[in-house]
Amino acid sequence: MYLDYAATTPLDERVMEEMLPYFSRIFGNPSSGHFFGQQAEAGIENAREIICACTGLGTKEVLFTSGGSESDNLAIRGVGLAQFENSGANRILTTPVEHHAVLNTVLQLARFFGFVVEFLPVDSYGMVDIDDLRAALGTDVALVSVIYANNEIGTINPVQEIGRLCREREIPFHTDAVQAAPYLSLEGITSYADLVSIGAHKFYGPKGVGALFLREGVQILPTQTGGGQEFGLRAGTENTPYIVGMAAAFKLAQDEVHVRAAKLKSLRDRVIAGVLGSVPNSRLTGHPEMRLPNHASFAFRDVDGNQLVMLLDAAGFACSSGSACKVGDPKPSDVLEAIGLSTGWVYGSLRVTVGLRTTIDDIERFLGILPGLVDKARTL
Ligand SMILES: *Cc1c(COP(=O)(O)O)cnc(C)c1O
Repeated sequence: MYLDYAATTPLDERVMEEMLPYFSRIFGNPSSGHFFGQQAEAGIENAREIICACTGLGTKEVLFTSGGSESDNLAIRGVGLAQFENSGANRILTTPVEHHAVLNTVLQLARFFGFVVEFLPVDSYGMVDIDDLRAALGTDVALVSVIYANNEIGTINPVQEIGRLCREREIPFHTDAVQAAPYLSLEGITSYADLVSIGAHKFYGPKGVGALFLREGVQILPTQTGGGQEFGLRAGTENTPYIVGMAAAFKLAQDEVHVRAAKLKSLRDRVIAGVLGSVPNSRLTGHPEMRLPNHASFAFRDVDGNQLVMLLDAAGFACSSGSACKVGDPKPSDVLEAIGLSTGWVYGSLRVTVGLRTTIDDIERFLGILPGLVDKARTL
């Protein structure tokens, strides 16, 4: 039973149907001037228009990339370097609960390019406080990057407020919306965010494709140089079938966003109530209300989360511990440390993320087996 939809989702059959012609019949290089190239280019421009129609973006504000990680890299490195070149601004404000695609990019900018990275504090739910941001902003800030919805603990940040504050001061604001895009509406997002990362495989699209929304007027350097594709901002022959698939998946997700969210929220709430009610010494991680509708995450005292995930796997349930470490080399995740979990709890994380194929029967079976497995993990 798959309960790890925050890690990835299966490809929607309808999306695959849309993609198939672009692997064979419509195979041209979109940069070619002839008929074959024109056909492929039309597929890409149609995909761009679909995304624009869902979000209100202009067609020059959607860049196709190889996924959420690349979008984060392009946004942060590209805008950081452009801002430094234009104004000398060299401070980057971010949070200690970012995905590694953001974290390791800002750390590289600090180590090799002379940027000063400041981590805004987060509360025990992993949420940024707008007043801390206000106090940290200044004319020497090149970029602010705050995750929209957290992949490990599900917390949703007040990105509208954060974005408006940055906009008043004309400081570019990037948000990693890779987890948000499947279940929250991104309509009008550039009214508060200047740069937005999404990745298709989190919303029932193909792996290896994503987009960066880039508000018109924001200065950015390409990080992948070469040909002039994607308005000269992302070189390389476009992955036409995947781009077509991402747009189809994005439209399905955004058109149905409220229906999907409502369905998943009831499953999620059953998971949360069931786990907290049946497992002693358990707690929810992340915000109780301001959280992704499909996302439940927990800490269990005196449990090794990786061992629990292996026990669950052996019993037929695919969940995540939320920490990237291996069994035998336990190191708590940065996110769980940032929200201040104490030593007894910080290793015992479990993430249960539901999706469109999850049923209430699945959840009841999961809830039936979990308490015994936590007991077992506690004896190991
Ligand atoms: C999955 C994920 C990414 C990385 O996206 P890829 O398309 O897998 O590169 C980045 N940020 C968040 C929050 C994610 O959940």
